[in-house]
Amino acid sequence: MLYGVTDEQVSSLLQNWKVGVVGLRPDFTLEFVNAEAERIDGRVAEELIGRSVWEVLPNVVGTEVEELIRLAMETRKGGTAPLYRTSRPGRTIFLEIRVQPWGKGVALFILDVTNWVQLESEKERLEEKYMLASRASPDIQYEWNIKDNIWDSQGGHESLYPGIVTPTEIGEFTARIHPDDRERMNTLFRQTLLSGKAHWAFEYRVNRNGVWANVEDRAFIVYDEEGMPVRAVGVMKDVSETAARQMEITRLQSELIHVSRVSAMGTMASVLAHELNQPLAAIGSYLAGAERLLEEADEIDRELLLQAVREAHAGSSRAGKIIQRLRSMTMKAEHKRDWTNISKAVDNAVSLALIGRTELRDTLSIDISPKLQVQADEIQIEQVLLNLIRNALEANEEAGRSGVKISARELSVDMIGISIADVGNGIPADLQPKLFDFFVSTKDDGMGIGLPISRTIVEAHGGKISIEDREPYGAVFRLMLPINGH
Ligand code: ADP
Repeated sequence: MLYGVTDEQVSSLLQNWKVGVVGLRPDFTLEFVNAEAERIDGRVAEELIGRSVWEVLPNVVGTEVEELIRLAMETRKGGTAPLYRTSRPGRTIFLEIRVQPWGKGVALFILDVTNWVQLESEKERLEEKYMLASRASPDIQYEWNIKDNIWDSQGGHESLYPGIVTPTEIGEFTARIHPDDRERMNTLFRQTLLSGKAHWAFEYRVNRNGVWANVEDRAFIVYDEEGMPVRAVGVMKDVSETAARQMEITRLQSELIHVSRVSAMGTMASVLAHELNQPLAAIGSYLAGAERLLEEADEIDRELLLQAVREAHAGSSRAGKIIQRLRSMTMKAEHKRDWTNISKAVDNAVSLALIGRTELRDTLSIDISPKLQVQADEIQIEQVLLNLIRNALEANEEAGRSGVKISARELSVDMIGISIADVGNGIPADLQPKLFDFFVSTKDDGMGIGLPISRTIVEAHGGKISIEDREPYGAVFRLMLPINGH
C-alpha cells in the first residue's frame, strides 16, 4: 500500500479511471468492473459480476488474451496482448489489454484505442493518397527543411532533377538554377523567408540534363512561435512548354505589330511623298536662288545668300525628321519598357497623324500634364495613339465635322487614362462587338488592323482599351495604362 493512500482513494481511482478495469477471482469469475469497463462492454457491473470471464467475453476464448489470463493466474506474471479487435453492434472496436496479477486473482486493464486506430488508419490512407497523387502528377511536391537546409520530395523530381536522390542538401538544387537566375532566386528565397510571408510563387530556370527547363515554384512557409521559418512545403511544376508557347505568342505579337506598322506605313507612303515634296521643293528653290546670286550679282549680298542657305538647311532637316520618324516607326521593336512621357508621345503621334492633313492641326485640342509618364514601349504607345487619332480624324472627315479632343490624367496612383474624342458619326451598334477584331473595316482603303493591334499593345502593357458613344455625336476611345508597366 502506498504511504497514506487510503483504500477508498484507490478504489475511487479504479472506478473513475479512463482505463477499463475488470478483476477476476482465481476461479475466473468477475469480482470487479469499473465504469470504463462497463462502457466498453455495454453492460452494467451487476449483469457481469459473478459470471465466468469466458462466458462474459466469449470472443477472447482461443486468443492470446485467454492465454495471458491463464498464465497470469498460474505463474503470477503479467503481460500485454497485441491489439485486440472485437465488435459491438454496428462497429468494430480496438482494445489494448494488459493482464496483471491482482490479489489472488488477475485484473484486466483495458484501453479503448478505437479512435486512435481510426486516426492511424485515416493517416495511412491520407499518406497513401498523397503518395499516389504525387506519383500520378507530373508536379513535384517538396518539403524544404529550412533549419537543416534539407530538401525532400515524394518523387517525381527525377523528371526535372535527374540524378538527385532525396532527401538531400538544398544546395543540390540551387546549384542547378540557371546562372542568370541563381543570385536573384537566392535573394528572393532569403527575402521571402525573412519577410514573414505565408507563401511564395517564383519562376526560374533549372538545368535538366543540359537543357534549361522553366520551373514554377509555389510554396507555403511554416514558421515557429518565434517567427523563424521552419519549413517550406510546395509544388514545382515544369512550365517549359507554357513558357515556350508564351514566348512564341510574344514573338508573333511583335511580328504582327511590326507587320501592321509596315502596312500602315505603306498606306502613308504616298502621303509622305507629298509631304516630302514640300521641303524638297523649298530646298531646291532656295538653292537655285543662291546659285543665281553667286552667278549673276557683281556684288554678293551676303545677307540674302545666308538667308537662302538657312532656309535650305531648315527644309532639309524637316525632311530628315519626317524620314527618321518613319524609320523608327517601321523598325521592329523588341519588348522594352522605358519611362514614356505621355505628352511627348501624343505630340509625336499627332505629327504623324497630321502628315498630309497639316491644316487640321488647329482642330485638335490637347489637354495633358507635361509630367505624366508610364513605363512602356514608347514606339508601341505612339503606334496606338497614332491609330486612334487617325481614326478620329477620318471619322470627323467622313461626317464633315472637325474637332478632336485628346486628354490624359492620373486615374489612381498606379493608373493613367488617355481619351481621344471625336465628333464623327460614332460607332454603329452592330460594329461595336467586333470592333477590335482583325480585318473589320468600313473604309474603302481600310485594313481593319489598327484597333486590334492597338488592343494587343495595350493589353500587353497590362492596360485596357474601351470605347463609348459621345453626345451629341462622335466616339471616345479610352486607354487605361498601368504607370509601372507590366
Ligand atoms: P481601319 O481604320 O483600317 O478601318 P481600324 O481597326 O482602325 O481599321 O478600325 C476599324 C473600324 O472601326 C473602322 O473601319 C471604322 O468603321 C471603325 N472606327 C474606328 N474608329 C472610329 C471612330 N473614331 N469613329 C467611328 N468609327 C470608328
